[in-house]
Amino acid sequence: MSYGIHPEKYRGLSAAEFFYRNREIAGFSNPTRALYQTIRELLENSLDATELYGILPNIKVILKLDEREQNKVTIRVEDNGIGIPKEEIPFVFGRVFYGSKYTLRQTRGVFGLGIKMAVLYAQITTGRPIYIRSSTPLSKEIYEYEIQIDISKNIPIIVSERVYRKSVKWHGTIVELTIEGNWPNAKKRVEEYIKRTALITPYAEIYFKAPDLELYFKRTTTKLPELPKEGKPHPYGVDIELLKGLIAKYSNNNLTIKEFLLNNFDGVGEVTVLNFLKWAGINPDMPLSKFTFSDIEELSRKMREYDGWRRPKPITLSPLGEELLVKGVKRILNPEFVQAVVRKPSSYAGHPFIVEVALAYGGNVPVVEKPLLYRFANKIPLLYDEGVDVSRKVVDSIDWSYYKVKFPAPLAVVVHICSTKIPFKGVGKEAIADVPEVEKEIEFAIKEAARKLRAYISKMERMFEIIRKRIEIGKYIPEVSRSLAEILMKDQKVFEYRLKEMLERIVTKREKGEKNVKEYAK
Ligand code: ADP
Ligand code: MG
Repeated sequence: MSYGIHPEKYRGLSAAEFFYRNREIAGFSNPTRALYQTIRELLENSLDATELYGILPNIKVILKLDEREQNKVTIRVEDNGIGIPKEEIPFVFGRVFYGSKYTLRQTRGVFGLGIKMAVLYAQITTGRPIYIRSSTPLSKEIYEYEIQIDISKNIPIIVSERVYRKSVKWHGTIVELTIEGNWPNAKKRVEEYIKRTALITPYAEIYFKAPDLELYFKRTTTKLPELPKEGKPHPYGVDIELLKGLIAKYSNNNLTIKEFLLNNFDGVGEVTVLNFLKWAGINPDMPLSKFTFSDIEELSRKMREYDGWRRPKPITLSPLGEELLVKGVKRILNPEFVQAVVRKPSSYAGHPFIVEVALAYGGNVPVVEKPLLYRFANKIPLLYDEGVDVSRKVVDSIDWSYYKVKFPAPLAVVVHICSTKIPFKGVGKEAIADVPEVEKEIEFAIKEAARKLRAYISKMERMFEIIRKRIEIGKYIPEVSRSLAEILMKDQKVFEYRLKEMLERIVTKREKGEKNVKEYAK
């Protein structure tokens, strides 16, 4: 067979078009999931825009259904964050892979993708643009935009644009979108998601309103977690591209390899760098400009192989800490017992991570057949794919009877993993993979908290036993009093009364800290 012209036509695919075609990758697979995901993306952006800048979050989420077409859902999220500079608005909402979080520190968003997925989904299903109103703390203006995405070019389309003078002090962002969504189906998940978000952010005020659901979480602390700082890559995590990129920055510079490593990497000090270079057979004074491509390739391999680097510093991370985690758990679960454990920083493949857990027992914790699990990654609740998550595996492998928990029991386990690179399983970003280092930390943390729980349950059992005895003995008091009075033949009635009173006082006297036992006695 012969062709006059080549039969295939070639062209590129824009990032926007790729996600338009493959929206299920980012969680936009159907109207139920898309509604849940849209709320997530908006809320997570608002939380990042506040707490990362030391602002106590005040966030409002309003959901409305179209009166005639109930599957047309409008979602509006308002925050008191740092806002977005006017000239950036079209890009952050109208260009896939554009954002401010491509730095090495713990944030909820990482790819610069989330909100654009919601914009694309709105565009496809209802044809409506996204509405934005924003102002930064320093701006004297408030600006409003309506944006859509030119899918084939991956650039924003500005549908409308307005600017007002700011007459009241306000900074923050309001975003509104109308998508096709299935609210009745999504409702339970959304409710759970908002509750769990409130658990992990006790310092945030969150209000949610839908036609048939209203949630309000008042902040229970004004303390924010320590803010994450921007960090440098760790030698265990380097590859050729990363090295090439960093070296290119110094192209007009006479930097030596020693200085280069010292300045650009985490876990590298004066002593370690010299030890490494000696081990690698590289002259510390060799100018960076002399490195050929194959030198770079070898350097990258050796950096990953060398086992003498210091651990990555966790300055990039922002765990809640014991106090806030306990506050968060109390805000949502109001348990009788809660114990939080924050593990020391650790790392896998050059990425620092911290695991923190809390165990909640009794109170409003539902009675369940196996521990109720609340999973979080960088303060994002994970609701899907629990069965394949490493935390579920660890929780299920623990012999809870050793910790005196007999199921069915009111036990909840909260696991929060913070990292600059969460080891997600697959693209869904809903489950964490069984990385051995991470798994160990989760196990140690849960067991440490569980030992405290065992001590608490033992104490409760002892108290319960004492109370049981008291009640038992108490039954004999009237009889004993009457008999003694008879034997001693005093003024019987008065004596019997006094004796009874005295014995009752002895038997019901509570020890210090025994108050809450009353409940058990019932
Ligand atoms: P990501 O959150 O992964 O960076 P998004 O597409 O969700 O990606 O958001 C893109 C960028 O838009 C963010 O990096 C942030 O700079 C900005 N942004 C989005 N929502 C807000 C908001 N509510 N307040 C301030 N900035 C925001
Ligand atoms: Mg985001």
